[in-house]
Amino acid sequence: MALTGIQIFKLLPKTNCGECGVPTCLAFAMNLAAGKAELDSCPYVSAEAREQLAEASAPPIRPVTIGSGDTAVKVGGETVLFRHEKTFFNPCAFAGALKDTDGDIADKVKRWAKLQWERVGLNLRPELVFLTCASGDAGKFAAAAKAVTDNSDLSLILACEDPAVLGPVAEQFKDKKPLLYAATQANADKMCAIAGATGCPLVVKGVDLEDVMALTAELTEAGLKDLIIDSGARDLAGIFEDNISTRRAALLKGNRALGFSPISFANAVGADLAEQTVAAAAMVAKYSGIIVLDDFQAESIFPLLLERLNIYTDPQRPMTVTQGIFEIGGPGPDSPVAITTNFSLTYFIVSGEIESSRVPTWLLIKDTEGLSVMTAWAAGKFSGDDVGMFVKKSGIDQKVNHKSLIIPGYAAAIAGDLEEELPGWNIMIGPREAGHLPKFLKEWKA
Ligand code: SF4
Repeated sequence: MALTGIQIFKLLPKTNCGECGVPTCLAFAMNLAAGKAELDSCPYVSAEAREQLAEASAPPIRPVTIGSGDTAVKVGGETVLFRHEKTFFNPCAFAGALKDTDGDIADKVKRWAKLQWERVGLNLRPELVFLTCASGDAGKFAAAAKAVTDNSDLSLILACEDPAVLGPVAEQFKDKKPLLYAATQANADKMCAIAGATGCPLVVKGVDLEDVMALTAELTEAGLKDLIIDSGARDLAGIFEDNISTRRAALLKGNRALGFSPISFANAVGADLAEQTVAAAAMVAKYSGIIVLDDFQAESIFPLLLERLNIYTDPQRPMTVTQGIFEIGGPGPDSPVAITTNFSLTYFIVSGEIESSRVPTWLLIKDTEGLSVMTAWAAGKFSGDDVGMFVKKSGIDQKVNHKSLIIPGYAAAIAGDLEEELPGWNIMIGPREAGHLPKFLKEWKA
């Protein structure tokens, strides 16, 4: 059970030194209890108190990682009911369903793994395969799992409620950290032993939330921490209700037995992929950690990925791209050099227009904390001095044989200061609207 602010306060040094960013230990304790502060912000907590406070400072929904390496996916770790309260941290993962008796596993996972899109510097894609053992044969189940891992970088959910079949396959694939599905009242002891021995996360499947709570309490008591829950609901209303009840119980009541991310089966809601996709959209919005569909088609998964991107974007922080030099269209020493801000929308519009101009260009992106050109200029984050310093440090002068810099038309006011900061450079004022860049670049001369 999470500690209250007063209980936390009793464990703090009570020196009110303010180094944690708030003036008193009491204020810090209250923030910690509300999930608004990190325990590490106080450097003076004793080891003993730290141990006791670990539970209070842990996210109410336990984060769980599935898979290994670059394509491992983390779900859970959420601290709020609504994204505008803070943000949602770990996007839900999409799983495509397969059976070990299917004949086209390799082809299907190859197709699924290719469904990837770049948006605002992020890679959008489905991540998981929910592989059911329909054969009842460990050898066939393992061969199907191998077909998935040999032909894609998708991570596995190994679905088999018979510990005698799941055990050896989980052992064989334990380095890939598959999610094991599922522990029930009938097999909890043996599933607990398999998850403990392999170090793999485990789904707890109940007939309802009461059943899930009894099982998670039993398994956490036995030392398992990385759990995902399945309330047993298979209709959209039931899944929706259970997901909301779970999140509210974990966040508002500190119910640790429900402090786990749910897996939801959109493919149980309907046989038709369009119907499953609509159901999955509701599950993305309301707290599912993993969503299982029967198939991924570009037209079904892409809207879900975009919805997920929107919901799991921090509403308090503008999306940004990294500061630096971006090469667009393979520029050379004679190519134009342009500069703009690191607001991701600005970057993608400007880079898109440069691409469409077919004029290879060096695009300098200056960190303005995600502000667009006019806002950054007004806030003093795109001043002549700042931009000049950045251009000098960027090393662009080593890549081109001219000293001509195109600045955004909306930042024309910085031209004078910039010329002073960059002696010898020709500061050219570009168009105000990115849409006019192609014409400008085609006519550009250093
Ligand atoms: Fe108290 Fe620690 Fe914050 Fe200092 S840094 S005020 S000791 S909680």
